[in-house]
Amino acid sequence: MGKFDTDKQAIVKCARWLSERGFFGCVRGSGGNISVKLNPENMIAITPTRRPYQEMSPGDICVVDYKLKSIEGHLTPSVETTMHVSVYKNRPDVNAVIHTHPVFASILSIINRPIPALFDEITFEIGSAVELIPYAISGSADLAQHVVSKLGNDCFCYILQNHGALSLGRDLDQAWKNAELLEKVAQIYYYALTTGRKIATLPKDAIDQINKMRK
Ligand SMILES: [Zn+2]
Repeated sequence: MGKFDTDKQAIVKCARWLSERGFFGCVRGSGGNISVKLNPENMIAITPTRRPYQEMSPGDICVVDYKLKSIEGHLTPSVETTMHVSVYKNRPDVNAVIHTHPVFASILSIINRPIPALFDEITFEIGSAVELIPYAISGSADLAQHVVSKLGNDCFCYILQNHGALSLGRDLDQAWKNAELLEKVAQIYYYALTTGRKIATLPKDAIDQINKMRK
């Protein structure tokens, strides 16, 4: 058994679960990507590009260092590998990154709607706001730079303008759960917006209290 097999198996399990539930936008496609930080640090395991999730096996997962040098794997790593590495370099609390193309977060991404603090559960798990990361073409250094510019808010989820969603976690399970929670709150917020009624956000003192608990 290889040194990173457990991480590779966990990535494939997570990828299949998300794919079957529409998180990548197309069940038979290969959109989105998942990575975990490996020990020793400065290396990550990441899904390959253009490999449908339904056909993916642990042996297809790529291992690269922070300079994107291939350590293991016979396929090309995700085109968003630079974005993933940029997150790990700038957020030491993050050990897993999931990028998805889910329907409701994608709607908010094209109507330019960041998600305010709406529920205790979401604010505690994800942070006080899901900010919008300005558009840059997929896989570009500009996109990675735009992501880095927003990471200082200590939140675990972001919406990529005209693209999709990004969820982070202290481990893969947390990033996975955050991907699901983000799509849930994006769906609720979208439907709430369509009513045209005033949206009630959490009071500021509650947000401050939750933020203290998160630390
Ligand atoms: Zn994408």
